[in-house]
Amino acid sequence: MSTNTVYIGLGSNLSNPVEQLNTAMKSIALMPFTQLIKRSSFYSSKPLGPQDQPDFINAVCEIETELEAEDLLKRLQTIELEQGRIKKRHWGERLIDLDILLFGNNLINSKDLVVPHSQIALRDFVLIPLSEIAPGLVIPNKGKVENLISTLTDSYLMPLG
Ligand code: ATP
Ligand code: CA
Ligand code: CA
Repeated sequence: MSTNTVYIGLGSNLSNPVEQLNTAMKSIALMPFTQLIKRSSFYSSKPLGPQDQPDFINAVCEIETELEAEDLLKRLQTIELEQGRIKKRHWGERLIDLDILLFGNNLINSKDLVVPHSQIALRDFVLIPLSEIAPGLVIPNKGKVENLISTLTDSYLMPLG
């Protein structure tokens, strides 16, 4: 079995988002064949889609896992459901959102899974916490995280607390 270094993006804007992120990180750490290596600080961000919803809290974490990517996705979706995620509207409010940002250097393009995450290069709430825990990280086909950050036109990201 091969081990991959994987980055997961976490977001929440309902029911005590900080607690939601902490709970999800604990569940991630308990997944089989997986170790939680690093967690970023928490940041607040403006919602992407409908603006009539609370600000988000975002973070990223680094894991090492022997799980296959599709298996990891299913387990993350189970954690989302266990925390009570109900799909409301596109880019709308949610208790917890867990996205696979990077899976080693793998390029995945299946019906259910696109890795690197399709929006990774455009999102301050992903790139800034990634640069915090993995400075110099190279995103396959897109380049260094810090170079991508320098192309962002505006950012409303605020470190929490
Ligand atoms: P966005 O993808 O823009 O961040 P979202 O997180 O709100 O939007 P969801 O409703 O959480 O989107 O997920 C929709 C589908 O995206 C999931 O059912 C899943 O199969 C698919 N998906 C594709 N690539 C990924 C990935 N890298 N991580 C998580 N889900 C993914
Ligand atoms: Ca998402
Ligand atoms: Ca998602």
